[in-house]
Amino acid sequence: MTTVQPSGGARAPMISLDEAVQRLVEAGTAHCISEVETVSTFDALGRVLAADVRSELDVPPRDNSSMDGYALRLADLGPDGGELEVAQRIPAGAVGQALVPGTAARIFTGAQVPPGADAVVMQEACEAVPAVDRGLGRVRIRQRPALGEWIRRRGEDVQQGAVVLAAGTRLTAQAMGLAASVGAGRLVVRRRPRVALFSTGDELAMPGEPLRPGAIYNSNRFTLRGLLQACGCETIDLGIVADRLDATREALRRAAAAADLVITSGGVSVGEEDHLKPAVQAEGRLDLWQVAIKPGKPLAFGEVRRPVGGEALFVGLPGNPVSAAVTTMIAVVPLLRALTGEPSVVPRAITMKAGFDWPRPDKRREFLRVRVAEDGSLVLFPNQSSGVLTSVVWADGLLDNPPGKPIARGDAVRFLPFANLLG
Ligand code: AMP
Ligand code: MG
Repeated sequence: MTTVQPSGGARAPMISLDEAVQRLVEAGTAHCISEVETVSTFDALGRVLAADVRSELDVPPRDNSSMDGYALRLADLGPDGGELEVAQRIPAGAVGQALVPGTAARIFTGAQVPPGADAVVMQEACEAVPAVDRGLGRVRIRQRPALGEWIRRRGEDVQQGAVVLAAGTRLTAQAMGLAASVGAGRLVVRRRPRVALFSTGDELAMPGEPLRPGAIYNSNRFTLRGLLQACGCETIDLGIVADRLDATREALRRAAAAADLVITSGGVSVGEEDHLKPAVQAEGRLDLWQVAIKPGKPLAFGEVRRPVGGEALFVGLPGNPVSAAVTTMIAVVPLLRALTGEPSVVPRAITMKAGFDWPRPDKRREFLRVRVAEDGSLVLFPNQSSGVLTSVVWADGLLDNPPGKPIARGDAVRFLPFANLLG
């Protein structure tokens, strides 16, 4: 069998995924985005902090009650409780008076505990004795509380001066809440990475169009755009580019002018219809790799010159839909993290148990589409072909299997949840 070589070159070298990721991350670090902007904490979801968020206050700012009940002084109670005059009422948001010995304060969840009180008794454990004429009446405590009971201590969540969110943190909804809890209404973040995207392939049609003979719908455009958006990128979508050298070169120039990173799908295997390689070589610089992973394998990496000087990074993904998605998650996302200066670029894997046998592993490192069963074991999607997009929708993540390693039911395996790959 003869193999058609990409124009003018030897067969692309086979490299390990770790080596490929290292190269991508080095390039991302070298092109790390330096521009920062200040955004409202409301709009910070998915953004990466460019500066530490430090708290100027204790959270909570004062001791407060975690129950509706009565604040009191233990010294005023006997071993079996006792009865106290209710001298004040402190709803949340109000500030009470120092507790006069022998009295209790009616208190509500979130209200500041008055000075002198050292425990709160929840209302379910007391009996209110109504006032005869005026006043707030009395309260009967049936059981002596423990010291500090139902009191949330000042600073138990955050202490004044503490860094609550470090520079390089990608902001989740929870992190936005934490920033707000220390009073940060605006946050300094890095500019979003700008990623230009186009698909190659004359067989591609857009959903909504009728499917002419020989055509398939362009799914990569949607998967990749969605993955990039989930990673906090601004996407510049250049659509489908015809399988022609001039059209591909023109698209690369437009993409590089607008973006930090140019991503394409398709056209990186060794077919003679693949114009990406000569186009990138003419517009910049290109390495073609065979990454020893399945799905995946062909990956192009390089740079495209900008008309104004400098260059955009370039990643050419394989066209097969599962390969394109998986390669983005495991190789492009670390590059994006490096671009935004995140300190940790490698996804967190979890050791789990296989709930299936995989007796004939590939000699390449495999990323199997698996789902977490209720018993905590991993279940395999029956069709692991790189064209079967249903597998990535069904799955909860990828099982990262070393080259040539058979799996038997019950074996410990490395699991990469999609949430860890993209989060
Ligand atoms: P290629 O890498 O261009 O040789 O494409 C490999 C396989 O992926 C072929 O079966 C293509 O039809 C398919 N493919 C390429 N691009 C896309 C796309 N954007 N959406 C869906 N399938 C694609
Ligand atoms: Mg193609």
